[in-house]
This record gives sequence, C-alpha cells and structure tokens, in this order.
Amino acid sequence: MKYISTRGDQTERRFCEILLEGLAPDGGLYLPVAYPRLDAATLARWRGLSYADLAFEILSLYIDDIPADDLRALVRRTYTAEVFGTPEITPLKPLEPGLALQALSNGPTLAFKDMAMQLLGQLFEYELGRRGETLNILGATSGDTGSAAEYAMRGKKGVNVFMLSPHGRMSPFQQAQMFSLQDANIHNLAVEGVFDDCQDIVKAVSNDLDFKRRYKIGTVNSINWARLLAQVVYYFAGYFYALRAEGRLPEGSAPATLADWPQVSFTVPSGNFGNVCAGHVARMMGLPIAQLVVATNENDVLDEFFRTGVYRPRPTAETHETSSPSMDISKASNFERFVYDLLGRDGARVKALFKDALERDGRFALSADETAAIARFGFTSGRSSHADRLATLRLCHERYGQIIDTHTADGLKVALERRQPGVPMLVLETALPAKFAATIEEALGFTPPRPAHLAGIEALPKRVQRLPAQVQPVKDYLATHV
Ligand SMILES: *Cc1c(COP(=O)(O)O)cnc(C)c1O
Repeated sequence: MKYISTRGDQTERRFCEILLEGLAPDGGLYLPVAYPRLDAATLARWRGLSYADLAFEILSLYIDDIPADDLRALVRRTYTAEVFGTPEITPLKPLEPGLALQALSNGPTLAFKDMAMQLLGQLFEYELGRRGETLNILGATSGDTGSAAEYAMRGKKGVNVFMLSPHGRMSPFQQAQMFSLQDANIHNLAVEGVFDDCQDIVKAVSNDLDFKRRYKIGTVNSINWARLLAQVVYYFAGYFYALRAEGRLPEGSAPATLADWPQVSFTVPSGNFGNVCAGHVARMMGLPIAQLVVATNENDVLDEFFRTGVYRPRPTAETHETSSPSMDISKASNFERFVYDLLGRDGARVKALFKDALERDGRFALSADETAAIARFGFTSGRSSHADRLATLRLCHERYGQIIDTHTADGLKVALERRQPGVPMLVLETALPAKFAATIEEALGFTPPRPAHLAGIEALPKRVQRLPAQVQPVKDYLATHV
C-alpha cells in the first residue's frame, strides 16, 4: 500500500516513511491511494478472530514494509488483556437491547487514545531500531494525549518524550498520572502559562528547522496515519461484538454479499475528528455501518458542518472551556481526510478549500451537491451542552445503572436522538469517569470509582521540570537532555 497527500501531491510514500512524519510536504494529510475493499467471505473469516489477530489482518492490508511475522508480534504485544483489562480489549457494556457502550478506555491512561498510542510506541521502537536512529518527541498537552503518549513510549529504546503542559492547570489526577512516571526517557515540562502557550512553544521549536534536524524532533499528534489506522480495528471488533450480543452474528455459511450482512451504527464523541475518521475508513473498506454519528460539545464546528456544509473553524477566543475538555477544539485536524473522500479525491479542490479559502476567509462552504453527498457517507451529527451532559449522566445512571464520563455522555445524548429502529447503536466510550470526577460529582452527587491500581496516585513522588513560558528555556532543556 502506498500513501499520497490530500492536497494533490501524488508522490507515493510507504507506511514506514510516513510513520515518523507529520504533514505531507504540500501541507496535506496522508491517505492510502485506495482503501482495500472487503468481500463477505473476508468478513466471515474475521468474525471469530481475537482482537490482536483482527488487528493484524487489518493492518497488514495497509503495511507492506514490515515483515508479516514482525507485524503480528508487534500487534500481539500491544493488545493484551494485561494492558487493556479484558481479552476482548474493547468489550461492550450493554445499556438496553440495541444500545451499548463500546469500552475504549481501559488502557493505562483510561482514555481511548491508548488504543492507538500503545501500538505507535511499539511501531516507533521497531522502526527506529531498524534504522539505528533516535527520535525526540516534543508535544503539548492539556491532558489525555500527553499521558497516552508517555505511557506508550516509557522505556522504549530510541525514543524520548518531552511533554509540555500548562503549570497547575491539569486536574490533580492527570498531573499525578503523568508526573509520577519515573522513566528516564520521559520528560514532563510544566510551563508557566496556558495550553496555547505550550502549543506556541512547540510550533516555534518545530519551525526552527536547523534545531529540529539537529535534535531529531518529532511528534505524535492526531494526524499521524498510524494512529488512525490502529483505531479502524475497534470498529470491526465492535461490529462483531454488537451482532453477537444481539444474537444476529451470522453463523456457519454467512451471507454471500456484504449488503446482506446486518448493519450497525456508531456514535463518536468528537474533537479533532481522528476517532470518527477511523470509522469512515472502516466503512469505506466495506464494513456495514449504517450511521456514523458525530457528537460534539458546545464547540460545535463539526456539527455545524454536517448540518450545513459550512466549515468555520473558531478562533481561540471563541473556543469554549467545557466539562468535556478533550473535545474543546476550534479546528478539527483530521477533518480534511474525510473532505478529500467526499469530494471524490480531488486534491486541487481540497487545497482550494483548506488552504486558499480558509486562509482568506476563515471558512468555506461546500456546494449544494457536495453537501448532499455527505449522507451517502453515512454521516450525521448532533451537539450537547453542559446541561445536556449533566442530564445524560443522571439518565444513564438511573435508567441503565452505569456511570459514564462526560465525553461519553455527549455521545450518548446524541445517540439517543439519532438511533434508528432495528440497527444496533454503539456509543464509543472515550474515557472513564474517574478522569473527570468533578462533573460526575456535580451530576450524581458522589465520586466515581477509580480502578484499584490508581488509588492514591496523587501522593506518589513527581518528576517534573517547571519552566517559564518562553521558547529558549525549552530549547535549552532539550539540548541538554536528548
Ligand atoms: C481525544 C478525545 C476525544 C476526541 O477524539 P478526536 O479523535 O479528537 O475526535 C473525545 N473524548 C476523549 C476522552 C478524548 O480524550
């Protein structure tokens, strides 16, 4: 499989070439030249596989520059019951017939980003070892991404992580999760500023190309294709789990055409569009998905797009701080991938929208025909507010006896509005409630349970370096610690 850019550059790259990179040179995102299309026989063959073996089958359609035995070993090392808590890796939590949560948050940092980041850690160590290179990952985090990256890269050979976070602004639990890591290759830098300051510093360091090359600076941000690919797997797993739970998984000789397999829908709490974009890829491969429901919080740039065909990223000043903070984004960094497919893979048109129009007008509007095409891709959307979140947390606890987190609550709120009779709906659970305890207490009046092994982590010794919100001190720290 070869990869090309969404902005028209047709230079073909291989998986391991783009693994350690960010944007394509023309500013676009990498996508496979074509999605592998499944047939019904393949789906029948995959229905009984373990999660790791399913992951191997899917990944090997997209990765042809890692020997199959090595790839299988990497994947089996990643998706274990020890790391993810159950042999199903992403088990369902049934709510009522036709409605379930798919648990993606039982990894080390209790959020779905572990699903991809744990694989990325294995892939990075493998590829860097093969090249005899090292990589220094520089990132900024307000919580989930940074901790997932650190837990994935801790102790990995050839990789160091330098993670900037706003000093004193993450929750005590999130700080404890990150700062308690004692691994020599993990560096927590608490910047005396806000998250935007952290991001500006990362950008400034990355834009200094001499420094970047000299100190081998890289990233693990959400536009990384390998992260997206890892996420495709749980849509397949969820599909099989849902049909099995409903007693509708074809046994024995299965339907001979994909159109005769039952359909399942997914609702996805969304921010950067990385999670739901993986669902789009699964659907393009032929997985029978009826609807992909994009759920946003008050930062509803994606909901607006799917309702109107107008994409209007918000300035930072218009980005709300909400009680589902991991979805507080102003600009959905993976969204261009979907638009590329929506527009018939017309790279020139994508460039005209994402480069020319966005830079000139701060927005773009699709034509009526293009907007009408959205439905053919199964997409629909909805939004949720703080009040909706509280109401849904209570409803879920009272009606289903389940305590969910605030992001998953946004998903459930929209799923209940959008689900269709006869089509099982899965709501992706993107974090555990213990991570966002304050809002759960506000809604339910008690503290959500925490996995036993994380009891009292706030009291552990912390390993963190405090720095002023300036570029030079961060560069100096990097130069002396790589
Ligand atoms: C990152 C994150 C999201 C948003 O996922 P995207 O891929 O950015 O759309 C939702 N919920 C939680 C808990 C997250 O950490």
